[in-house]
Amino acid sequence: MTSSPPPLLASRIFAQNRPLCSTGASHYKLVPHSLDIPLLTRQLKDRKVAKLVLPNGIKGVVISDTESPVTGAALSVEAGSWMDGRHDGTAHFLEHMLFLGTKKYPNEHDYERFIYDSNGQLNGYTASDHSLYYFTSVTPSAFDGALDRFSRFFYEPLFNDSCVEREMNAVDQEFRKNMEQDGWRVLHVRKELANPAHPFSGFNTGNLETMKLIEQETLHTWFHNHYSANLMHFAVLGRDSVEQLAEKAELAFGPIKNHNLPTLSTANTRVFPESLHRTLTWIEPIKNLRELTLAWEIPFKYNDAAAKPAKLAAHVLGYEGKNSILSMLKREELAEGLSAGKSHLGADNLLFEISVSLTEKGVRDWRDVVGRIFQAIASLQKETYPKHLFDEVNFMNKIAYQYQQRNSGIATQWCGLLRKEGIDTFPRQSYFIEQFDQEAVQSLLGEFTPDTCMYTMIAQEAQIDLNKTEKWMGAKYGLQSIQSEVEGWRDAQPLDTIQYPKANAYIPQDLKMTKRNNDPPQLLLDAEPGKLYHFPDEEFAVPESAYIFNMKTPKIRPGNARSVVLAALYTRFVHERLTELSYDAASAGLHYDVSVSSDTGIRFIVDGYSEKAQLLLKSVLERLQNPSITLNEFTIYKESLERSYKNAAKESPLRQAMDKLSAVIYDQYCTPAMLADAVQTVKIDDLEQFSKSLFDMRYIEAFVGGNVTAEEATSAWDLVKTHLSGSPCSPDLVVKSKVLPFPNTRPAYHSTATPVKGNAIVWAVGLGERDHWLRTGQELMTKLMKEPFYTELRTKQQTGYIVSSGGFQADKQLFVQAAVQSNSHDPRDLLARIELFQETFLRDLAESKDIEERFESVKSATLARLRQPYDTLGSKLRFFNYLAYEESANFDMLAQRLAVMEAYTLADLRQFAEEALGRDNKRRVAVLATGNSPENLLFSYESCASPDALKNRSKL
Ligand SMILES: [Zn+2]
Repeated sequence: MTSSPPPLLASRIFAQNRPLCSTGASHYKLVPHSLDIPLLTRQLKDRKVAKLVLPNGIKGVVISDTESPVTGAALSVEAGSWMDGRHDGTAHFLEHMLFLGTKKYPNEHDYERFIYDSNGQLNGYTASDHSLYYFTSVTPSAFDGALDRFSRFFYEPLFNDSCVEREMNAVDQEFRKNMEQDGWRVLHVRKELANPAHPFSGFNTGNLETMKLIEQETLHTWFHNHYSANLMHFAVLGRDSVEQLAEKAELAFGPIKNHNLPTLSTANTRVFPESLHRTLTWIEPIKNLRELTLAWEIPFKYNDAAAKPAKLAAHVLGYEGKNSILSMLKREELAEGLSAGKSHLGADNLLFEISVSLTEKGVRDWRDVVGRIFQAIASLQKETYPKHLFDEVNFMNKIAYQYQQRNSGIATQWCGLLRKEGIDTFPRQSYFIEQFDQEAVQSLLGEFTPDTCMYTMIAQEAQIDLNKTEKWMGAKYGLQSIQSEVEGWRDAQPLDTIQYPKANAYIPQDLKMTKRNNDPPQLLLDAEPGKLYHFPDEEFAVPESAYIFNMKTPKIRPGNARSVVLAALYTRFVHERLTELSYDAASAGLHYDVSVSSDTGIRFIVDGYSEKAQLLLKSVLERLQNPSITLNEFTIYKESLERSYKNAAKESPLRQAMDKLSAVIYDQYCTPAMLADAVQTVKIDDLEQFSKSLFDMRYIEAFVGGNVTAEEATSAWDLVKTHLSGSPCSPDLVVKSKVLPFPNTRPAYHSTATPVKGNAIVWAVGLGERDHWLRTGQELMTKLMKEPFYTELRTKQQTGYIVSSGGFQADKQLFVQAAVQSNSHDPRDLLARIELFQETFLRDLAESKDIEERFESVKSATLARLRQPYDTLGSKLRFFNYLAYEESANFDMLAQRLAVMEAYTLADLRQFAEEALGRDNKRRVAVLATGNSPENLLFSYESCASPDALKNRSKL
């Protein structure tokens, strides 16, 4: 993979030089549009956008989409953790505190309650040089209230004393959660090795140790010194006209103070010292990872926004097709994957990295891997960068822009792009590469020399003594001088096998639309070996289609670890055989997926621009039919699969508890430990046999939709039938995992020990078999529970950083679920708190004063989303495929759910909640996961056999 592809969604910029406002009350200035490429997606053709600068200097963009099912807003400020000052973690802690009360809305839970009750989501993050806050997916009628609450973060936060004391624990728990994650550990080793004069070297997350002296006053001062309108950008998405949205934005963000603060500049300071050149840093991971990274701190001129040389360089270095670096490394059994791309370290420093996922052999022979990469770079430097690659990328950027679909997170996405690009050109440079600068790309490739490279290896098989321990996260690492190796790589010889990519055969030429209609999906075929639905949807008029095939087979049984492992190895081979062409396809907006679905068999999907979709489908089928298994690859993939199953034991305690809960709920389920055992016994003959006979008996469930005719759907069906030939199979022969309802006898829990730090609990209550009535109760009740549960267990009690609740469906059974991951509380204690919360929740539902209002708000927001449930063609087609096969082709299901919910009253909900959460419902199960570190035991009660034993503990 290269660096991330261009964002897919944007809208036509609409603005003139005169004010848009009609009332004359506003004072914002409009910024002229920078892009005049019309949108071709019919749903968005009336979307209008304006860019503005408010009198206080804040810059922003308003997106008016009068039919949008949701609204949202985001704000960024160029203030981040590099400006922490005396107390590490100040910027991050302040970010947390902004959510907890403003002058007009002093209640610490007010914002969360309002957003969650409006069906919305919210979050914020603190980066090195900026912070960003957003709410999204809020129902249109709640937009004004959400914006009013949100905007006050930035001019009248309270930093309430009692919250300051408590919320510090949330940040500390966040830090402790990160300590166990390899990504964070590697980052902190890099920080420790960085130039101490560059702010990158600081510890930025914060913990109790670094933050204990922070008080309300500290936060007010920091806020005043770093949050200023001239450093802010915003974006809003709403249903109002652009004029109204601009006025609302001015009303909301206009009161933010402008202190005319400068941005932080690190332009003349290197992030990493030159002593890291010609040095290999070995880092020990917690999981069994093997990752080699070559990194260069490159001059800032390569940030050229119009020509994007780093993006074009990443496109060829990260290429996965024929004659690519990855192909070569795979052939030599050195690597499993590769990525390349540029990243920003703050506003002024650039890093370019090539990362390789290595095989066991690759770690052993890492010198060969690096040598090959430098040979490959020499091969590319020898030729000139071909213009056709630039043309292809730009053509795809253009159609991706023109055929974009609705994106409920667009305000958040645009706010992030806007702060990077700046208001004058936005969104032109975020979406397009405006000029081809061949020289700049060549010269950038010339920067990638062995002498200026920083080498990092993350692997458990360290070849040197890891004699250093990183200060904050505790990661072990060591430095190896590789001076003589570097000398050898200096005159790396070009290779014939490395070449620039050829013209991409998947780039679409023809984007015309076929005839479509508004009818429900048609059953085109219903005869052995299965069914084919066709759905030429009219609602989303984009030149895209999806081909979805479920090959049900009795050969894969969800409770049989051996069959699951064989299926996983088989799909791995299929993916490997497709890599060289799927990269081209993906660059041309065409994607495929082949996966083992735990209860259906093998599922494959091809979707994207319709014109070449069948071309890709045919290639997928050829590989499914014959994945060409070889012994060398078999050995690599088998080891890789075993490693991934074993890594599951190093996952967070919450993930492990969730996995155990699935094992409890499904009658047939293989845990990662079972799969790890099974994979060891598999031999290449077993896989060959499995792959040859996999489709001997199969039942096909097919769904083809979008910009595609019935003839094309039928020809795809014929392709599948002939490539994967076999005899028909009754769907009854396919073994499906069923859900066992919890017995209504007595609540029960299971305790499990994990080798990681931290504790977790997952708690689930069975509600019974689904119908529309039960499902409505579950949906409305869990939405009403979301905020109070979070407020109680996290904000007030500070039991953990991850605190969540909700509902889920498994098979046809419905459940309510709650989960906490904690570094301070014993799981048994958490269980008691969750139960206590349910009692309070039921009482509030029966008695609290604002419950009627909250019920109406949650219900109307949920109804509004049900009336307009899809943002994209892809999500609609997948949902209709689900209805076709999992819901007996009941394509009216949403209308039925709507009707039931419309009639549902608060009295209904009270009765439902009492039956679901009251003590008469004993269908309750909890999984408690306890980590093994000493800190887990700090507050866990010890059981003593007798009063004397208890009494005499003090004498020990
Ligand atoms: Zn945080």
